[in-house]
This record gives sequence, structure tokens and C-alpha cells, in this order.
Amino acid sequence: MTLETPQDTEQGAPLSISEPSSQAVAVLCGSPEGRGIRVLDVSAEYVQFWGGERDHWLGAEPCIVHQSAANKQLLNQLNNALACGKLSLGCSISGLDHADEAPCSNAPRPLIEWRVTVMSMPGYADNVLVLVQRDITKRVEKEAELKRLATTDMLTGLMNRSRFDHLLKHELGRLNRYVRPFSLIMLDIDYFKTINDSQGHDVGDQVLRALATLLEDNLRTADYCARWGGEEFMILAPETSLEQAAQLAEKVRQCIRSAQFPGAERVTISLGVAEATPSDTAKSVMKRVDNALYHAKERGRDRVAS
Ligand code: GH3
Ligand code: MG
Ligand code: MG
Repeated sequence: MTLETPQDTEQGAPLSISEPSSQAVAVLCGSPEGRGIRVLDVSAEYVQFWGGERDHWLGAEPCIVHQSAANKQLLNQLNNALACGKLSLGCSISGLDHADEAPCSNAPRPLIEWRVTVMSMPGYADNVLVLVQRDITKRVEKEAELKRLATTDMLTGLMNRSRFDHLLKHELGRLNRYVRPFSLIMLDIDYFKTINDSQGHDVGDQVLRALATLLEDNLRTADYCARWGGEEFMILAPETSLEQAAQLAEKVRQCIRSAQFPGAERVTISLGVAEATPSDTAKSVMKRVDNALYHAKERGRDRVAS
């Protein structure tokens, strides 16, 4: 089989395949001179996406090929296998790549999902490779935004309880497998109801936001901080023993005690500390840290208990 541009193709008319307009389609096959894989025809969407004129693309390398030597090799292998009759209709390869450059100069480089399939096309004597590509940049951005919303506490911007649960299980897995210690600090604002009752719910919200900022500013970047719910927060400190976590908790307590809060006089917090052990489950270590917080409250608040 020789891989030549079929003579009976209507080269004048742009390729039309019934795909949604977000999909750019190109028909590909090996060049007769053995220069690797080349474009035989393109859809209007392909031209629109990559720019230039349709004629510019005919005989050129398909855009996906530019992106990496690995892609180029993969497509050429597919093309050679097709030429040797080793591939049956419907065989395909697919990938996900950032385009080398954006179609418009100041746009971000789009993320392209692509698939190349062996197909029989009207107008072509032999089977050809059909490249279908779709710009999924917006979809991926939207998914990332949805993920962010699903894992973030809307009032404070800290991670939410569900994300923290996930993180805790992950860290317990690491502790079990690699014996990486970590500790938890659970903290609760003292008499927060009084702040709400005397200053109003909006001031209460401002206090929660300011406290979240103070926590973030006073923790190491390796530490995680979450809003556990209401006026309760959780800190997960990786590579931290019980003693070190108790010191950190005391530092946080003093920082909150001496901070100025909008609309409220002094705000104090109570903190419980627990170190995770390899035999812990999320439930058992949470119970320990919750008990510690309970003791801190019981012993008079504005203190750390472990
Ligand atoms: P303690 O020292 O025992 O912790 O007393 P407390 O008053 O802080 O605890 P309590 O559980 O009695 O009250 C917590 C209050 O937190 C009640 C609830 O209305 C308030 N709260 C929970 N979530 C929010 C919120 O998002 N914004 C505001 N402003 N208040 C909240
Ligand atoms: Mg509480
Ligand atoms: Mg409270």
C-alpha cells in the first residue's frame, strides 16, 4: 500500500464531518516522501482553531504533532502500522496536551484533548487516520473552580470540613505506611455566642474571618488549617510531635488573645491537642483531640490541653 493523497478527493471543498463545532477534525496519513505524518484535509473548525488558511494546513504536520517528540513518534508508529496493514478500523490512540502556543497571542496555551482513529472515509481509497481534537481548557478550569468551591469554607476561605476529613485520612495513610508523625489541634472560640448576642451576627462573622487570617499568618506553610464548623477550627501539623504541637497551640492561643478583633473586645480560644499514632483511625484521633478540647473548656477556657 502506498500512502498518497487520494486523487479522487474533492480537494476544493472543506472537509465536513458531523461533529459538534467545538471539535476540530483533520484527516491524516503518511506522506508519500516518507516525511512522517501529514494532514490530508481539515474541517473548518480546525482552521478556525489553529488559524491561517485551509490550504496552509494541507500537507502540513498536524498540530498535535508539534507538541512533543513522543506524540510525533506515536503517530508515526500508528501510521507505519496502518501502512503495513497491521491496524484494523476503529483502532485509536488518545492524549492530552497543552498546545505549543495559543491561537491568539495573549491567550493562555489551550489544553487539547485529542484522539486519532483508523477510519474509512468517503473519498479516500485506503483507510486513513482521523484526528479529532477538542479544546478542554474552559471545562478543566470550571472543574477546578467547582472543586475549589466544594472544598472551601465560604466565610473564611479556609478548607472546609469535608476537605479536612480527606486530608486527615491521607495523613493517617502516610503515618501507617511511612511512619510520618503528625498532630492535630482543635480550637474553639470561648463564649462566641456572647459576641453574636451582644455585637450581632455580622460582627461574629468578622471575628471568624479575622481569626482565620490570624491562624493562616501564624502557621507554617506546611501546616493545614480548616474551619471545622461554627466557631471551631482544626489544625493539622505534619512532622509534629505532641509536645511540639502543644507549643504551637500555646503560641496560637497567645496570638489570638493579644490580637485586635473588629467590633469585639478580647477574643480567647481553647485548644485541644493530640498526636496521631499508627493504630489510629480518623474517628479515634478526632475523639482524642475533641476530648482534649473539652478538658481545656472545663478547666476554665483560654488554655491548651493535651
Ligand atoms: P464555649 O466557650 O463553650 O465554646 O461557648 P460558645 O458560646 O462559644 O459556644 P456555643 O456552642 O454555645 O455557641 C457557638 C455559637 O457560634 C452559636 C452559633 O450561633 C455561632 N455560630 C456558628 N456558626 C456561626 C457563623 O458562621 N457565624 C456567626 N456569626 N456565628 C456562628
Ligand atoms: Mg463550639
Ligand atoms: Mg465556643
